[in-house]
This record gives sequence, C-alpha cells and structure tokens, in this order.
Amino acid sequence: MSSEPNCVFCRIIRGEIPATIVHRGDACLAFLDIQPLAPGHTLVVPTPHYPTLDGMPGELVGEVASVLPRLGSALIRVTGATGFNVLINNGPDAGQVVPHLHIHLIPRSAGDGLGFRWNVRGYQPGEADRLAESLRRALAGG
Ligand code: AMP
Ligand code: ZN
Repeated sequence: MSSEPNCVFCRIIRGEIPATIVHRGDACLAFLDIQPLAPGHTLVVPTPHYPTLDGMPGELVGEVASVLPRLGSALIRVTGATGFNVLINNGPDAGQVVPHLHIHLIPRSAGDGLGFRWNVRGYQPGEADRLAESLRRALAGG
C-alpha cells in the first residue's frame, strides 16, 4: 500500500490540501486535528496508506509510534496540559471516520470535562481462560 488518490490524509501527505504540520518523519506525518478536543490535539499518520492498525506491518507501527514520547512531552510543555490520551479508533464500529490509520494525541488536564464511557462487564467462570487460549492459538498461527 502507498498512496490513495482520494484519501484526505494521503492528500495532506502529498501536500494537496493544507494542514498544520507539527512533525515530518521518514515514516509518519503529525499535524493538528482540524476539530480538536483540546488545543494541541494532534494526529500522527503513517506516510503509506493503511486503513487500519491490524493491516499494518509491525515495524512500521513501531516507527510511527516512536515519535509519541517526544511529541507527547512537547505537547505537555507547550499546551500546559498535565497528561494526554493516545487513541486509535480502529474500524468504523470503533469510531473511525477517516480510513487512513491515525493516532490521536489528546492533551488532558484536570477537570477538562473530556472522558470515555467505560461500561465494564465481567467474565463468566472459565470465559477469560478460554478466550486467552483462543488468542494464544491465533497469535501462534500468525
Ligand atoms: P477518527 O474518528 O479517529 O477517524 O478521526 C478522524 C479525525 O480526523 C477527526 O478528529 C477529524 O477532526 C480529523 N480530520 C478530518 N479531516 C481533517 C483534516 N483535513 N485536517 C486535520 N484533521 C482532520
Ligand atoms: Zn491515505
């Protein structure tokens, strides 16, 4: 996969539409989200077009993610936030709207009113063990 003609993030990468760029790396581009949840809300996107995380080579994920500590520290220093969320909406049912994988960095501070609904549930007896066993087998199979 490389570049998609009509993908909005590929178009930003190709310089066809404007973006407020924060960082340009070999494997990724970071720019400000056009509809920020907080000042400094940044998107980090791999330069090649991949729709979702599960289709990406691990090495590329590593390269893209390697900018996160430095970028997160810069966001804290510059925005005055005291923390940040790192978020991937992976797939439409997970809230992904732009089908070019991107990592959200969302600056956070106490009382900012942002948050997630964690509607937690438990496991039936044995359910977690069976699930973990299936996952181990799936991982072993590639
Ligand atoms: P997601 O729901 O994870 O797919 O998020 C897509 C994000 O991309 C949203 O937060 C949008 O505000 C942002 N976005 C869409 N188009 C642009 C653009 N042209 N420049 C910057 N951010 C954008
Ligand atoms: Zn793309």
